[in-house]
Amino acid sequence: MQIVYSRKYEQKYPANPVENPDRVRLPADELGKAGYQFREPEPASLDAIRIVHGKEHIDRVILNGHFAAASLAAGGAITAAEMAMHGEPAFALLRPPGHHAAANRAWGMCYFNNMAIAIKNIRPRAKRALIIDIDLHFGDGTVSIFRGDQNVKIVNPWSVDENFEYLNMDESRYLSQVKGAFQGFDYDIVGVSAGFDTYLEDWGKLLKKEDYCRIGKVIKEGAKMCDGHRFAVLEGGYHPDLKWCIKSFIKGFE
Ligand SMILES: [Zn+2]
Repeated sequence: MQIVYSRKYEQKYPANPVENPDRVRLPADELGKAGYQFREPEPASLDAIRIVHGKEHIDRVILNGHFAAASLAAGGAITAAEMAMHGEPAFALLRPPGHHAAANRAWGMCYFNNMAIAIKNIRPRAKRALIIDIDLHFGDGTVSIFRGDQNVKIVNPWSVDENFEYLNMDESRYLSQVKGAFQGFDYDIVGVSAGFDTYLEDWGKLLKKEDYCRIGKVIKEGAKMCDGHRFAVLEGGYHPDLKWCIKSFIKGFE
């Protein structure tokens, strides 16, 4: 399995200090040492971004100095989705994250919705998409972009809705929520919004490193229904153990 990555993901831009370059630099070093191959992404074109985001939103992202970083992140997600459709599972190790970004709104350290841009840009080759958002926080941006779209199913295993209400949860219930995502829907591709802030030592204080391997495996299994077409993009995750959580997830997912 390949890692979609650019050293440019380590660039500095105006951001909350928790969302810093080490979040991708340290996992990239670790995955490199483990022998994973890297694929260099191109920035998403304006046309590709416009499929999801309005002109005013894009202009604001430019004005605030986030465009170079955000368009390269969106491009990484597109590359990962393209690879998935060619039968190569991929993990896009990117920042800034995207799942809080709506068509006309940026918040939560997200500017462009990387997952939504990827899914919309690989249509119609992959018509129906299943998105599993394992980040601690509800992926409100992604849900708002695909609201009413019968061809996209989005599952947030833990959080119920945009009010950030959470279910009573332990690891085994979390895993069965992920398994349940695959039921009752036909899909051509599986995209994972892979946030790791649900980790035991991170804000969510729930999942162990090994649980991420299990989650990756469940998703790999579920993706057999669509010829294995699967990819993941990094969302949140702020603890220094992030590199181990990512490595564990990839071990199950590859
Ligand atoms: Zn999060």
